[in-house]
Amino acid sequence: MNNELPKFERSPILPNVEEDKEIWQPRWDCFCCQDTGQIQAHLVRLIISDYDPNRDRIPVCQGCNKFDRHNLRDYGVLDTRFDLFLCKKLDAISRADWKQVTEKQFEKYKKQLDITTGQIAKTHSLASSDRTSNDEREVQQRKAEVEAISPEEWKAMNESYLVGKKDE
Ligand SMILES: [Zn+2]
Repeated sequence: MNNELPKFERSPILPNVEEDKEIWQPRWDCFCCQDTGQIQAHLVRLIISDYDPNRDRIPVCQGCNKFDRHNLRDYGVLDTRFDLFLCKKLDAISRADWKQVTEKQFEKYKKQLDITTGQIAKTHSLASSDRTSNDEREVQQRKAEVEAISPEEWKAMNESYLVGKKDE
């Protein structure tokens, strides 16, 4: 007799606000298919390494119900081997990718700011105390500018950064 039980993922009703608070979230719910119903090509390639989106059957996301089957009369063009469990796994991988990219972008931006503010301080470190206080004000102003970046602006920055990645 086989006593092995299946393994399920948690199925939370409430989102994990703590976990998602710091990081910008894209507009889609499903990271497997980005709500298109068709699994992202770069995720499909984790499983079908030579997947060709122009010639192969459409890998349907079964992690969500975004795919509109009624648009396609011919079920023969669909690849339905990606089941719910697999789509949830791909969703998790893609989610982690996004988080990493967003964090990297944020770090890069912060570093640029530190260099800029550092240069201002260094350039004027020998200047009179009057000027130094002006520069200090400038540094503080730049910091305030970065801190005032809205979620929409972060989103735009991320989108431009990810254009190449998405077209893969
Ligand atoms: Zn999906």
